[in-house]
Amino acid sequence: MARIEPVSAAAIAHAADVIRAGQVVAFPTETVYGLGADATNGRAVAAIYEAKGRPSFNPLIAHVASLAAAEALVEFDPISRRLAEAFWPGPLTLVLPMQPDCPISSLATAGLDTLAVRLPAHPVARDLIVAAGVPIVAPSANVSGHVSPTSASHVFGDLARRIPLILDGGHTEVGVESTIVQVREGTAHLLRPGGLASEELEAVIGAPLQRAEAGDPTAPIAPGMLLSHYAPKARVRLHARAVDPGEVLLAFGPRHVPGDADAAGVFNLSPTGDLREAAANLFRMLREADALAITGIAVAPIPPHDLGEAILDRLERAAAPR
Ligand code: AMP
Ligand code: MG
Repeated sequence: MARIEPVSAAAIAHAADVIRAGQVVAFPTETVYGLGADATNGRAVAAIYEAKGRPSFNPLIAHVASLAAAEALVEFDPISRRLAEAFWPGPLTLVLPMQPDCPISSLATAGLDTLAVRLPAHPVARDLIVAAGVPIVAPSANVSGHVSPTSASHVFGDLARRIPLILDGGHTEVGVESTIVQVREGTAHLLRPGGLASEELEAVIGAPLQRAEAGDPTAPIAPGMLLSHYAPKARVRLHARAVDPGEVLLAFGPRHVPGDADAAGVFNLSPTGDLREAAANLFRMLREADALAITGIAVAPIPPHDLGEAILDRLERAAAPR
């Protein structure tokens, strides 16, 4: 059974020992909880796929503690470097060509010649990477396809019997996964919307991000972007203007939603209409709504800009047919 250890210097040192020994540890980042392993150890990486039940063709993000550590793994082009300098540490993942002597296990990259790297802002994540002395690959610490965890108890609910240790650092601040960008021939492509708004990236790049067009087979995509993901048990209905009896309402903003008096439950992602607050609450409220829903979950309209882009991306996957 997984041990939950509140964050302390001793707990981080212990977790680093567990990682160096080739086992997995769940730990907080500013986005969601990650399930970490030594990125250079193929058997340790295999233990992540096994614990999550994640398809091994879905590559992982390598987490590092400094830009210099990233440069030892991948080669930066000028735009990627500018983005790293502007937004690291933070919820931005860059996909870059690997250095010829890159020590990352090919299981972590699913055999690609590129590597996704991120420098997280959460102090526990950074202390753990430094203490372990190796890059840490870490997907979200949930069973593959489930809603991502934003607290240690979410991790425990999914993985208690499959992993030895969970570092408990409270609720995560951003609440959705990192934004993934890949620069190809001088153009920045958005592979996954996430906790860093596209508008902020575009302001630094000085050009719009390219988004994958539906049905374009040549467009770069993050290979793990499965259509059905983040899936609660209940059916999810988006852009709901009214809530039906037996549904739980996920509201957004101050506007009243007709039918809410007869709903099986009402959660407001952000009563003031703040998209950052909504992102931070999204996965917890999806879980809580799922526990109460009788016929499904109705989600009120959410604006598609700023963090709304990532919120709608996750909700569309939660609503996708399975
Ligand atoms: P997660 O670990 O659940 O946050 O998912 C990581 C995401 O990064 C998945 O959607 C992967 O497909 C994507 N990813 C990881 N490595 C690469 C890569 N080399 N190229 C493109 N996407 C990647
Ligand atoms: Mg995930």
